[in-house]
Amino acid sequence: MTSIRIRNGRVIDPSQRRYEVVDLVIVDGHVDGYIGQEAQGSFDREIDAAGMVVSPGFVDLHCHLREPGFEDKETIATGAMAAVAGGFTTICCMPNTNPTIDTANDIAFVFAAARRAGLARVLPLGTVTRGELGRELSDATEMAAAGAVAFSDDGRPIWDGRMMRYALTNSLRHHKPIVNHCEDPVIADGGVMNEGRISDLLGLKGQPPAAEEVMVARDIELCCAWPSATDLPYPPR
Ligand SMILES: [Zn+2]
Repeated sequence: MTSIRIRNGRVIDPSQRRYEVVDLVIVDGHVDGYIGQEAQGSFDREIDAAGMVVSPGFVDLHCHLREPGFEDKETIATGAMAAVAGGFTTICCMPNTNPTIDTANDIAFVFAAARRAGLARVLPLGTVTRGELGRELSDATEMAAAGAVAFSDDGRPIWDGRMMRYALTNSLRHHKPIVNHCEDPVIADGGVMNEGRISDLLGLKGQPPAAEEVMVARDIELCCAWPSATDLPYPPR
């Protein structure tokens, strides 16, 4: 049995309605309870967290680890190091790598690299469409079985509404959300910032809010089309 006492930190734990300076005891990797700062006891290790926040690990639902393909920017190991340095114990990584995360093997690759890093819990997303090209659906069934937590063509919108409709059937079937990069490329028309007074002043091409809103509205309509997960059409292969 290994025990750790974290002293003098400000504990912020919404699940316990705690926001106070108190000591935290961890036994064998699990929170054992809180004790007053004056309480005595012997512990295998004591950590002084004065001036620091002690909280449950943060979760990042949308990060980019860039491996495979862009290791000059980030790897799964360096991303996991950065995560834990910032208090993030779980991170969900987007599949717009090179190659993209399209198959069960690709999902297994991310898990294996994360295991080697041995730091944050890394949960991969798989692509909605192969290569994020929007032309054919990736195999959501095999990726879900391999542990993909969600599906996304992040970096690119799922511009084809028919493709999105079928992707949503997969979402219901496997209970995995679709994370869409909502941006109608025709309305966005190459804009590089929000359209308005500042884009005019800077002489930069703006992008109207409708570019995002139109696709959000489309996706909500598509979601409403199916009241339940039964009787779903199977996506074409
Ligand atoms: Zn992103």
